[in-house]
Formats: sequence, C-alpha cells, structure tokens
Amino acid sequence: MSKENISSTSSRLAVLTYHLSAVVMASEKEAAAAAVPSDSPTIFDKIINKEIPSKVVYEDDKVLAFRDIEPQAPTHILIIPKVKDGLTGLSKAEERHCEILGRLLYTAKLVAKQEGLEDGFRIVINDGPNGGQSVFHIHVHLLGGRQMNWPPG
Ligand code: AMP
Repeated sequence: MSKENISSTSSRLAVLTYHLSAVVMASEKEAAAAAVPSDSPTIFDKIINKEIPSKVVYEDDKVLAFRDIEPQAPTHILIIPKVKDGLTGLSKAEERHCEILGRLLYTAKLVAKQEGLEDGFRIVINDGPNGGQSVFHIHVHLLGGRQMNWPPG
C-alpha cells in the first residue's frame, strides 16, 4: 500500500473512531438523562441475587465485583456493596457509610492487583445526572489496561 493510501486510510479510521466515540458518549448521556434517581431495587440487585448473569471477578460477604457489560477500557469492573443501605449514590453518603465506602475502594485495589494492573488504573464514581450516573446503587468503576486521558469526558 502506498504512503498516500496508508495516510488516507488512517484519517478515515480517525474520523470513524471520532464518530463512534460520539455515539457512545451520546448513549451514555441519554442513559444518565433517562435514569430516574430512586432508592428502588436496580439491575445490580438482580446481579447480586444471581437472577441475571454477570462475570464476577471478586465476591465476599460485603461486596461484589463484576465486569461492566459495556467496557470503556480493556479492564472495566464495577464494585458494589451487597447491601445498599440508602447509598443510591455517593451524594447520599452519611457517616455510617464510611466503612462500606472504604471497603469499595480497598476492593478496587485488590481487584486491580488480581487483574494485573501494575501500570496503573482509574477509579470513577459517577453521581447524579451531570456525573453521568445511570444505575442508582453506588458503584465504583475500575478501569485499566490502557492509558487514561485527562480531563475525562
Ligand atoms: P453509571 O453510568 O456510573 O451509573 O454506571 C452503570 C454501569 O453499569 C454502566 O457502565 C453500565 O455499562 C453497567 N451495567 C448496566 N447493566 C449491567 C449489567 N447487566 N452487567 C454489567 N454491567 C452493567
């Protein structure tokens, strides 16, 4: 393939990637905008109760970690408390939640090690519509396996 062809193919790929990421961003925003904040059971309760399948990577009596169904990085894992106790999101945290909040972060560290993310990783907690939250059961996103960008989108 000539240099011109390679260059034209890579520009087309760049344009395609740009459009695809815009579509993903739009659907994320739509999901967050459509989500109604509530304390009702969510899809994560069904995952905890094994009523729907998930790819669990870590579980103990307090927390569950499973692979995100729409991964945004080679490694994308969600870490959730088994008992929500009113923690629909971080903005609902009260002092009594300190232990479970600490456990979510500590589990993220354990899972990062288990997943071989020695070169680093990112932790994300989306909160509310502006934060892009779509599931109202607090969860920590653990992302890794690629270089993260800053600022995040
Ligand atoms: P957030 O937008 O921060 O509320 O994150 C919710 C995350 O849950 C998104 O990244 C979704 O891809 C993920 N998700 C939704 N349903 C499932 C499911 N059944 N299994 C795994 N991940 C899911």
